[in-house]
Amino acid sequence: MAVSNPRLPAERGFDAADEIITTHVGGPPTSYFIHRSVLCSSGHFFKTRLKPEWSRTDEAHAKLPVQEPDAFNLYVNWLYMRGIPLTAPDKDDDAQHRAEWKNLAAAFVVGEAVMDDPFKDAIMDALCAKARSPKGATLWAVMNAVVQTLYDGAPPSSPARKWLLAVFIHHAPDDALDPNTGDLPKHFVWDLARAHTDGRKPLSVMELGSGAALKCTYHSHGEAEECPLAKKEG
Ligand SMILES: [Zn+2]
Repeated sequence: MAVSNPRLPAERGFDAADEIITTHVGGPPTSYFIHRSVLCSSGHFFKTRLKPEWSRTDEAHAKLPVQEPDAFNLYVNWLYMRGIPLTAPDKDDDAQHRAEWKNLAAAFVVGEAVMDDPFKDAIMDALCAKARSPKGATLWAVMNAVVQTLYDGAPPSSPARKWLLAVFIHHAPDDALDPNTGDLPKHFVWDLARAHTDGRKPLSVMELGSGAALKCTYHSHGEAEECPLAKKEG
């Protein structure tokens, strides 16, 4: 029988006696209690806001009033575990899959707010993997909400917006652009029309996952930079 290997990279460890920071998210706010070193371990937002010289105003600087608490909860899970807890890809519970799509989109927006590119990369990997999974088609029932979230909360250059275009262009069912099924953001419709006409269509989500270059297609780092998600295994 194989012996399990319990080792994590040493830098993943944290001091459990470290100070706890209270973070208020959403309105009405949900409170999260997170070790300072963990909260400041990745994104620039908390690193900057929680500098020691501001310690007496910590809580005022740790608020995220417009973010979704469930999406922030996913961020905290990632901070502690460097992984994204996801529903089993073939679990036959479409309502759970639909809620998860919406939460992943909101989590990407949290990643923008806390300025955490490695977390955004992990969310993009989760979105790609879920799209390729046996329950990938559950996305279409909540697609309008997912598009709305990402067009409200992610900038035009965001990989999440490029991913949406790829999914629509290569995988949309026939009724995906039926105006009777609900509104899509005007800028998304324009982006989609432009992607169809300018000949630079993004890669199909199904083409990802093989080869290092494709693996980072929807990551925020540049082509010349090392992938932060590869570094974590060092
Ligand atoms: Zn990468």
